[in-house]
Amino acid sequence: MKYVYFFGAGRADGTGDMKDLLGGKGAGLAEMTRIGLPVPAGFTITTQTCDFYFKRSRTYPKELRAEVAKNVARLEKVTGKKLGDARDPLLVSVRSGSARSMPGMMETILNLGLNEESVQGLAKATNNERFAWDAYRRFVQMYSTVVIGLPKEELEMRLRNLKNSLGVKDDTQVTAQGWRQLVGEYKAYFKQKTGKDFPEDPVEQLWGAIGAVFESWMGEKAVTYRRVEKITGLLGTAVSVVQMVFGNTGENSGTGVCFTRDPSTGEKVFFGDFLLNAQGEDVVAGIRTPMHLNELAKVMPNVYKQLERVREKLERHYRDMQDMEFTVENGKLYMLQTRTGKRSPAAAFRMAVDMANEKLIRVEEALERIKAEDIERLFYPVLDSKLERGELASRKLAEGINAVPGAAVGKVVFTAQEAVRRETSPEDVGGMYVAQGILTATGGKTSHAAVVARGWGKCCIVGAEALEIDAEAKKMSVNGRVVSEGDWITLDGGDGCVYMGEISLVRPEPPKAYETLMKWADKTRKLGVRTNADTPRDARLAREMGAEGIGLCRTEHMFFKDFEQPEKSVERQEAIQEMILAEAPEARRRALEKLLPFQRRDFIGIFEAMNGLPVTIRMIDPPLHEFVPHDPEKQAELAKKIGIPPEAVARRVEQLHEANPMLGHRGCRLAITYPEILEMQVRAIIEAAIDCQKRGIKVLPEIMHPLTLDKKELKILETATRRIADGIIAQSKVKLEYLVGTMIELPRAALLAGQIAEVAEFFSFGTNDLTQTTMGLSRDDAGKFLPEYVDDRKAAIFKDDPFQTLDTEGVGMLIQWAIQNGRKTRPKLKIGICGEHGGDAESVKFCHRAGMNYVSASPFRVPISRLAAAQAVIEDKKKRKH
Ligand code: PEP
Ligand code: MG
Repeated sequence: MKYVYFFGAGRADGTGDMKDLLGGKGAGLAEMTRIGLPVPAGFTITTQTCDFYFKRSRTYPKELRAEVAKNVARLEKVTGKKLGDARDPLLVSVRSGSARSMPGMMETILNLGLNEESVQGLAKATNNERFAWDAYRRFVQMYSTVVIGLPKEELEMRLRNLKNSLGVKDDTQVTAQGWRQLVGEYKAYFKQKTGKDFPEDPVEQLWGAIGAVFESWMGEKAVTYRRVEKITGLLGTAVSVVQMVFGNTGENSGTGVCFTRDPSTGEKVFFGDFLLNAQGEDVVAGIRTPMHLNELAKVMPNVYKQLERVREKLERHYRDMQDMEFTVENGKLYMLQTRTGKRSPAAAFRMAVDMANEKLIRVEEALERIKAEDIERLFYPVLDSKLERGELASRKLAEGINAVPGAAVGKVVFTAQEAVRRETSPEDVGGMYVAQGILTATGGKTSHAAVVARGWGKCCIVGAEALEIDAEAKKMSVNGRVVSEGDWITLDGGDGCVYMGEISLVRPEPPKAYETLMKWADKTRKLGVRTNADTPRDARLAREMGAEGIGLCRTEHMFFKDFEQPEKSVERQEAIQEMILAEAPEARRRALEKLLPFQRRDFIGIFEAMNGLPVTIRMIDPPLHEFVPHDPEKQAELAKKIGIPPEAVARRVEQLHEANPMLGHRGCRLAITYPEILEMQVRAIIEAAIDCQKRGIKVLPEIMHPLTLDKKELKILETATRRIADGIIAQSKVKLEYLVGTMIELPRAALLAGQIAEVAEFFSFGTNDLTQTTMGLSRDDAGKFLPEYVDDRKAAIFKDDPFQTLDTEGVGMLIQWAIQNGRKTRPKLKIGICGEHGGDAESVKFCHRAGMNYVSASPFRVPISRLAAAQAVIEDKKKRKH
């Protein structure tokens, strides 16, 4: 096996494709060398070596020493210099770099090869003694801290003392003699701490540095970064040993970073910074203010021209925006790194569209380059980045699970009517609707709060367990810091942080390129994309987002809030509560009569908003106890209003109590036992549809029964549905088509799908419940332990939260089975998904492969699903080619 890859003098053992083996940096250096760019020579030790190192108790493959020695010799030959030479020594940098960019997370050692002899050589060769000793002290410091692990502070203190004794403030004022003295002090400290002399032998130095770079792969910073960024499956870091070039030899030198296009706007302009007479870290560290590239064009016109050519060549070569590091040593340009540059979401769209228009990439590639997060981040407001970091940190109150990204600022309220509680239930929906953002102390990403908030594109942080909420006293506290009702807080749903006070937010405008790219996506995709919407307002918003219909209208949300006329909400709530409390069917009917006009008006609004597009309306789903008050005071209030004794209310609430309501009297079981609810809802839908149809608004209602178990159950519901609907239609003399179908939310329904399809005209997979029932994990409670299930430092049982990204292995198997068997019975069976997964890119791709007709997502996730559906087609095509 080959462990070391050389590059230099126009030739390279490796190529740009070998990122997995050479790391991004090593592959970039090899490729730039190959295409004739000015790159200092060097060699890269592979990531496989790193893998070996950690797997075999921190040892190296036995061939490695000889391979490194051979490559050092080759490097000496190409550069015409020798390591440790007393006249003009070869110096190298030893750099980390894995297949995925992990900026600043691993170690680098510069100026390696300096010792008491070669420092003289460097001074002679550069004719600059001060420069040479400065380089040496930097090396001794880096080596001592990075390789040996001595405390940086101790060395910094010695530097401060030196400057004090010399009476100078800046490093630039320290003389050669001063640096020389500092090197002596550093070495003395080194000996005192390690009991050994500082290594003089460059080869020994090199091996120390190689080991330190490998070690940094498992350093805390790097491990944490990989966890946060979900980087897995890499072998380790490569080590690139590269000839040093110096940007700090004088006014004819310098160092810079540049991008082939503007990474924040995406505009095709050359973008970057340059520092005269400086080393690489000085740019990144932001100590001195760098000059823009325009200025570089003035001070070093030849270098700039050359750099422009490099920019073009690299972008054409990599067919993507590049982020490059370069150094100018005595007027000569060297490229030190190139990689695909990180970009803002707006820039991602603009670059993808521009590059496709320039024919640099194909439209399909442009579509593949946009990630779900880019779209997400495009629409949600964000904390104003102008706020200082330190200030932000001091205001941080708590951290929770970032359920819905974006940010929100508002005054804290604790009551249901006004807004947030410790947990939320459908009862809180009104409060949540008016809230700027939602914060809960418990719950996970698919808890009710999160589902609802996502639907509204509303920032939501759940499970912020450090919060001690005292709803009675209207206060919450964390570590002694108290927030009372009416105090301002700011939520950052992007990372789940909660801040004290009001931080200004900005809502980014989607760029023009977004529209263009989404049009391309729509042309490419096969899946339809609908939305989950319960109100006309959401329906309109979803259409703006590109929805082609409603895949799920949860009617029970309408029982609590009159979204068009909020002042009428109370009337609805009373009617539904009266209906639930009624002991006899007659009383129930009377209450339902009161609800009918409300529901009808809601449906009219939705049909109008969706003119000509299909609308799937689901019959009532949650257990009834969720709609009635549980505390005695409120019960008494309600009893008075509807004119029954308070004990009757309490008794009925007690009757409704269930130990396991999620598996209890809910879903279509409600319509089986209370057929009059179904009758009212069907009537409201059909009457609304007829009303619209008469006014020339095209309506395609799809009546959906939730949580069905089997064919027999669905048959009862279907018969009842058609009896009511057909009766009304016949009377109205209007031609109206409608469908009757079911949600598939239970394993039994999925298994018996072939039979169910005899009755159902469509299936919609309710994957929230189907995940819950297949896995036996409560969607409302699993948030407490699921983080451990997905954490790769802990159990790592799931790759992703199954309530967020569909468990394609298990739940997916049921879905595939149901689709195949459903279509065997009814080849034209219309099939969609309306669980949260319909707005998750990976899950949408699965839905495409499984042969669904459409997915349904909350309005703000509609564009994500449109894009993912297009990407699924492209991936499909690629797979068939191979
Ligand atoms: C589901 O279970 O996936 C679904 C869409 O229904 P709900 O979330 O309302 O239970
Ligand atoms: Mg459900």
